[in-house]
Amino acid sequence: MSLLVGPMQQHLNGHKDLTDHNEIIEVSPSKQVLIPLVCYGSNELELLVKENDKIKVGTKIALRNDKMIIPIFSSVSGTVVKVVKNMHDMLRPVDHLVVENDFQYEVEMPFNPLDPEKASPEELIDFMMNAGIVGLGGAGFPAYIKYKFAKDIHTVLINGVECEPYITADYRNMTDNIDKLIVGSKAMMKMANAKEVLIAIKETKQDLIAQLESALKDHSEIKVVKVPDVYPMGWERTVIYQVFKKRYDRLPGEIGVVVNNSSTAIAFANALLNGAPITQKMVTVSGDGIVKPSNILVRVGTPVSEVVAALGGYNAEEVNLIAGGPMMGKTMPNDTFVITVSTNAITVLRPQKFPDVACLRCGRCSDTCPAGLQPVRINEFEKARDVDSLVKLSALDCIECGMCTYVCPSRLEVTEGVRRAKRLIMAKKK
Ligand code: SF4
Ligand code: SF4
Repeated sequence: MSLLVGPMQQHLNGHKDLTDHNEIIEVSPSKQVLIPLVCYGSNELELLVKENDKIKVGTKIALRNDKMIIPIFSSVSGTVVKVVKNMHDMLRPVDHLVVENDFQYEVEMPFNPLDPEKASPEELIDFMMNAGIVGLGGAGFPAYIKYKFAKDIHTVLINGVECEPYITADYRNMTDNIDKLIVGSKAMMKMANAKEVLIAIKETKQDLIAQLESALKDHSEIKVVKVPDVYPMGWERTVIYQVFKKRYDRLPGEIGVVVNNSSTAIAFANALLNGAPITQKMVTVSGDGIVKPSNILVRVGTPVSEVVAALGGYNAEEVNLIAGGPMMGKTMPNDTFVITVSTNAITVLRPQKFPDVACLRCGRCSDTCPAGLQPVRINEFEKARDVDSLVKLSALDCIECGMCTYVCPSRLEVTEGVRRAKRLIMAKKK
């Protein structure tokens, strides 16, 4: 692990006012949804339905059952059509299950609700596993694993920082679901055998902080912790250092902390209270390239082309379409990919044209990198395809935060070069 050096934090123009207080729009899929058959990077799933099966919202359609258990549920009611390859926001085609939507949205409860006050920590962990609750902060890691192996945990840290520009989905999810945030957080505290829950919120979100502090009056074990409005404060290592002034080597458990995203806590509460898996997502669709920037409620498997159309379409002939935010998201070749369980944002930006300028060797990218890397040198060795040097430079430690591109005065796509370097190392390892 490289050292954490550099200023690590920079205030960015958030553009959050494009969406944070707008009405939430429900976007319904048209005649078909394409549900990705991939879980946390693996497509080795058992398919539990077959062509022409009639299924409902909540029907378990597939299961990952190897070193981790992750069920996948249908987001609509209707008929199973077939499995097709479709572009995924991992930037490669993967299997998707096509379900013909009957527009009835008939619901099947795939598991019974569970009272978190009465359930044991073990029952809660099993429930979280069978409900398919994955981390909604981006990576989609199955949340139960953090608790199954938790030892000597004192604090559950709920990450509601959402530091990336444009994205306000967590903010709106919290303002609209504070009761569920409290239920999910308390259940997580019980599962970790922790003493307290801290909910990290940016100090600039005064309205949310006030709303939370009022709702938490009767819950002394849960507190709000205000953190600076800088990037990448939402990165696990950064927010933990900010709150606890401690660093860790591999996992936050080493310093007695479990971290979950605020939307994960809310989704967990929804499963506990209503027996409902994650079939719908709050997603921010924003940027200067979309007619109506909004937070939307959308079913998993809905094509992004339909989301864009529901928000009035693109407002420029050429746009950059990003799955995620502008810093950490992935630029997609077109809008045929679908909303997944992990999608939190779609960012649509008008391309900015900059003259080609060579690297000035200013060192700003290295000074700013929160992972303590030297992006400029990684880019050089990537171009030379020198894998040994890339490994020595710890290129795999890059969290793809996008800061090196953001600060580069030559407007070079430095992050893209580091991403390519990571892929090069991984390809060599195979
Ligand atoms: S994208 Fe990677 S290399 Fe660039 S600043 Fe972020 S962590 Fe460092
Ligand atoms: S910030 Fe840009 S110009 Fe400066 S060293 Fe890094 S790549 Fe070169």
